[in-house]
Amino acid sequence: MSYAKKIVSIIKILTKEFLDLIYKRKCVNCACQINAGILCKNCLKLVQNLPDFAQGVVNNYPIYSVFYYDDIIKKLIQSLKFKHNKAISYYLAKLLANYIQQIQNNKTNELNLEGAIIIPVLTHYKNYNKRGYDNVLLIAQNLAKITGYKLNSTALRKIKYTKPMYKLKRKQRLHHIENSFELNINFDKNCPVILLDDIVTTGSTLEYLTSLFKEKGIYNLICLTVAKTKKF
Ligand SMILES: [Zn+2]
Repeated sequence: MSYAKKIVSIIKILTKEFLDLIYKRKCVNCACQINAGILCKNCLKLVQNLPDFAQGVVNNYPIYSVFYYDDIIKKLIQSLKFKHNKAISYYLAKLLANYIQQIQNNKTNELNLEGAIIIPVLTHYKNYNKRGYDNVLLIAQNLAKITGYKLNSTALRKIKYTKPMYKLKRKQRLHHIENSFELNINFDKNCPVILLDDIVTTGSTLEYLTSLFKEKGIYNLICLTVAKTKKF
């Protein structure tokens, strides 16, 4: 090793040790100290994914949700969304990638996602500006890296700002989101599409979005969400 390389490697080690010292890793759930990742071993054991089949159907498209939106998963999603803990997006993407493998292995699902395109459900630019990043886009980017699927973040665009929907009734929700997205078919229609969102609450958003894909004649599509509420 050359002298310069030795110095660089020493600086790297020292920097890492210094960062570890001032920024000790903590489990996102119980705040105990950890060496790597985002959850401690005990909390990781508590994270159980849902069975490897579709959790719902919308406009004839299956909806696969990996977890229930509660306890630890809720903490992870909220921490990524509101506390700038962007590293969580990578771990969620890893859990999604494992789940994708499971649902493909289950032959009764009849799923072939070879050459799939990931299309994330992005937030409106107003939210984006507030936070400086899009939480679903971060998950999608990591998922594309891990799985090798293509990412397309320009096909689906939110063109109307909509207020949070959790207080609205089902009918109001559908009316509320109508005409709020634009779908631009800038990809090969024959490729399977993975429509990716973080949470499915009542399914209204996915019902509306899948209708846009249906109108354009795209039938090979699955909805994939990190979590679903127990109501759904
Ligand atoms: Zn923990």
